[in-house]
Amino acid sequence: MDKERRKKILVVDDDPAQLALHKHMLRSCDADILTATNGREALDIVLRDEPRIVVTDWLMPEMDGIELCKKLRSHEGIRFVYVIVATSHAGPEKVVEAFNAGADDFVAKPVNETELLARLWAAERIVSAESTLAKRTRELHRVNAEMAMAHQKLNVANEKLKRMATTDELTGLLNRREAFERLNDFAQASHRYGHELAAIMLDIDHFKQFNDTYGHAAGDYVLKETARILRARTRSSDKVARVGGEEFLLICPGINGENAMKCAENVRAAVEHATFEYEGAKLNVTVSLGAAAWNSSYDKPDEMLKDADEALYVSKRSGRNQATLAKHSCEKTPQAEDKSADAEPTQPSVVRTEKKATATP
Ligand code: GH3
Ligand code: MG
Ligand code: MG
Repeated sequence: MDKERRKKILVVDDDPAQLALHKHMLRSCDADILTATNGREALDIVLRDEPRIVVTDWLMPEMDGIELCKKLRSHEGIRFVYVIVATSHAGPEKVVEAFNAGADDFVAKPVNETELLARLWAAERIVSAESTLAKRTRELHRVNAEMAMAHQKLNVANEKLKRMATTDELTGLLNRREAFERLNDFAQASHRYGHELAAIMLDIDHFKQFNDTYGHAAGDYVLKETARILRARTRSSDKVARVGGEEFLLICPGINGENAMKCAENVRAAVEHATFEYEGAKLNVTVSLGAAAWNSSYDKPDEMLKDADEALYVSKRSGRNQATLAKHSCEKTPQAEDKSADAEPTQPSVVRTEKKATATP
């Protein structure tokens, strides 16, 4: 604190008489006058006491005034200090050498008191301007750092918002809106390029009754576990979404109706055979599924979803715990047709997996 408040001027000269004389000349300055008898000693004092102005002789033992200037300028731990070199060396080359070494001003010996004081006032103006600048720079750095932190927080918040806008909070799966957007993208590619695409709707059987028996929290747990199974049983290129309370949608790009049914059956069996342990109880559920594959009759993904939904309700009506393939879903996509023009066409209206026992809680 003291270092900051009280002004300090360091006078450096190896001649005690000169030192005393310079000190005397500075008696009217409102500052502590520190003294050193060579450059090395001066450097230690600058590091310790942080005077803002140094008046130094040129020729001195151990470390001369020019070397001192260089050290003061190159030392990372020393902030700006104003250096006046006082010397009886005459000639412009000497002045240039002193300035090149880092001196701010030059005064000829024998030093005239009035001139020295005038140069010190000029020095104080520079030092004060430098202090203000340094303070503003520090403030700027602080504001910059705060802005960087705020920016980082904003990024995190934006990421979180984006996650919240696209995912289902309970299961971490895609939410309904995001799922439909992705489906739309895939459907556009199918419409344009004839890429294969399938959608599988899935609904937990008798879930209301399950909730009524085991409680809503157990129901939530089962929803999460079902989501986990769906993710584990599908390809990384498939999109898995929760599109309703106990309804899920699998979007499977690159597969036809036949393979969609294999995927649906795989998921159905995995859920049926899973045992969910919740607070000591061993719980089981089953799911019903409806699959639809993109075909030439579709213009929009909603039509495919409607067919998948209808197929799901066929599964429900037919006793649950089964998968049904929508009508027309065995048709080949236009591109697939091109590739297998000679293949035998197969077009059953509804394909169902073998009926399973309906699971009730
Ligand atoms: P179905 O076999 O015909 O599908 O019968 P269901 O009982 O499963 O179908 P229904 O549509 O009658 O009931 C759905 C139930 O899903 C009702 C509701 O309590 C439950 N549900 C919806 N969302 C959540 C949820 O976030 N958590 C829990 N625990 N239950 C939910
Ligand atoms: Mg249900
Ligand atoms: Mg339902």
